Amino acid sequence: MTYLAVPVAAKDKSEAYELIKTAQCEGAEMLELRTDFLADLNLDKVKELIDCARKTKLPVIVTCRDKAQGGAADWPLSLRAEILVEALNCGAEFIDCEFENFSGMQEKLKQALVQNHEARLILSAHNFDGPWRQGKLAHLCEDIKAACPEAIPKLVYTAKHINDCFEAFDLLHNTEGDAIAFCMGVDGLISRILAKKFNSFLSFASISDDSATAPGQVTVKQLKSLYRWQNLGADTEIFGVIGNPVGHSLSPAIFNALFDAASINALYLPVLIRGEKDEFSEFVDNIINRTSLGFGGFSVTIPHKTSALDYVNTAGEFVEPLAGNIGAVNTLKVGFNGIVSGYNTDYAGALDALIAAIDINRHDLHGTSAAVIGAGGVARAVVAGLADVGAKITIYNRTVSKARSLAEEFNCKYLPLAAAANMSAKIIVNCTSIGMYPNTDASAVPPDCIRPDMVVFDTVYNPLATKLLQDAARAGARTVNGAEMFIRQAMAQYKIFTGSDADEKIIRKTVFECLAEDS
Ligand code: NAP
Repeated sequence: MTYLAVPVAAKDKSEAYELIKTAQCEGAEMLELRTDFLADLNLDKVKELIDCARKTKLPVIVTCRDKAQGGAADWPLSLRAEILVEALNCGAEFIDCEFENFSGMQEKLKQALVQNHEARLILSAHNFDGPWRQGKLAHLCEDIKAACPEAIPKLVYTAKHINDCFEAFDLLHNTEGDAIAFCMGVDGLISRILAKKFNSFLSFASISDDSATAPGQVTVKQLKSLYRWQNLGADTEIFGVIGNPVGHSLSPAIFNALFDAASINALYLPVLIRGEKDEFSEFVDNIINRTSLGFGGFSVTIPHKTSALDYVNTAGEFVEPLAGNIGAVNTLKVGFNGIVSGYNTDYAGALDALIAAIDINRHDLHGTSAAVIGAGGVARAVVAGLADVGAKITIYNRTVSKARSLAEEFNCKYLPLAAAANMSAKIIVNCTSIGMYPNTDASAVPPDCIRPDMVVFDTVYNPLATKLLQDAARAGARTVNGAEMFIRQAMAQYKIFTGSDADEKIIRKTVFECLAEDS
C-alpha cells in the first residue's frame, strides 16, 4: 500500500482544523502534521493538533523539520526531540526525524518507540539543490537502515531534469521493506505519481496549489481524479506526452478518461523533457532499459518530434513510412521487449478532420486545390497528407525560404504569405499560430478572399472559433476547427497504444470541457 499523505502546515489550531477537514474531504489517506510551522511551538499545541487529526481516523505523521531540511523554523534540537516523543505518547502512528539530526535525539526517540511499539520512525534526508552525487542515494538508504533497521528510509531530492528521477525508481525497485523515494520540482512530477507503482510507503500531495509544502507537489484532487491514483499499481501500463512545455496539454485528461471508461489498467502522464536530442534519447534509453517501469508508449510534441524520428531510425524497429516522409514522429510505441516503433498521427488527424467535414473519402481529395498557410511542423504533416492523396498544394509562408524547401520536398508550389490574399483554392488550411490566444483578433487570410464554395480549416484550437473561422462562416464557407484534428490524431494514437478503438464521445466531451475551462 502506498499512502497518499497530505502535509498540514498551519500556524495555529484553527487553521490546522480547517486544513485537516479539507484534506480528509479531498481524499487524503494520511496526514503529516508539520509542527515546525506552528507559531510559538510547545507540547500543548502539538497535543491539540494530534487530537484533532486523530478524529479523522487517518494515520498521522508528526514532523518538526529544521530549516536545513526544508522546515519553517529552527527550533532547538531538544524541543524537537520532545515534540516527537510527545507525538508518540499522544498516539501518532509515525514520527519523522531528519537522519542528519537523528544521532542527537536517538536515545529519547528509541525509548519512546519501545513504549509505543506500534508506532514507526521515518528517517528522512532531503537535498533541495539537486540529486546527490552518483551512488550516494543508495548509500544513504543503507546508512539509515544500519542506524535503525526498523525505520522507514525517506530520501527526497530535487530533480533538475526528468532523467534524474530514475535513480529514485531504481532505489524503490531494489529496496526490500518499506522505503520512500521521490523527486521535488516540476521535473520530478512523474516520480510523485509513479511512487505508488513502485510501492513507495507514501507519496505527498497538497490540498491546493497554494498549500504545497514542497516544490512540484500535485494536489490530491489531481492525483485522484486525473492521474487515476486508486487504480495505480505494480502492473499499471504507463503512457505519456513528451514535450516542453507539457503543462497545458489536454492529452492526460483525454487518455486517462478513455482508460477509465474502458477499465484499462493504464495511466497517462505529462512527461516534461528539457533539452534536445541527447536528453530525449537518454530518457527513452532509461525507459527501455527498465522493463519494470512498464511504459507502453508516448505522444510526442514540440520540440521532440524530430528527435523521436531519429531515435527510432537509430535504435528502433519500425518507422511508419509517412512519418519518415514528414520527418517527424508524434507517437512512440514501446513493445514488451523494449523495442520502439514510430508513427505520425498528425497527418491522419488533419486529413480525417477535413474529409469528415466535406463528407468525402481521402481519394476524393485527389486533384483538389489546397492552400496551406505555414511551413512549420503542422504544415509538414498537412502537406505530406494532402500530397499523399494527390491534392494540388500551394504553400504560403512568412519566411519564403521555408515555404520553398517544404514545397520542393513534396513537389508543390509556394508563395509568400502576402500572396494568400489572391488565392483561389478550394481548401484553405491555416497551419500557423496566427489567431491563437491571446492574439485572437488576427487571421492568416483576409476575409474578402474567402468564398462560399471553400472549406476553411484552422488547426489552431484555442480558441475553437478563430477569427479565420468566423470570417469563413460569415462568407458561407464550410469550416473545420483545430479540435477536430486534435481529436482524430488522439484517436489514432489510442489505437496504436491499446489496439482498440477509442470512444469518440469521451474524447469529445473531455476536449470540449478542458477547452471551456481554459477559455
Ligand atoms: P511551428 O513549427 O513553430 O511553425 C509555426 C508556423 O507559423 C511557421 O510557418 C511560422 O512562420 C508561422 N508563424 C508564426 N507566427 C507567425 C506570424 N506572426 N505571422 C506569420 N506567420 C507566423 O509550429 P507548428 O508545430 O507547426 O504549430 C503551428 C500551430 O498549429 C500551433 O500554433 C497550433 O495552434 C496548431 N496545432 C494544432 C494541432 C492540432 O491538433 N489541431 C496540433 C499542433 C499544433 P515562419 O516560418 O515565418 O516562422
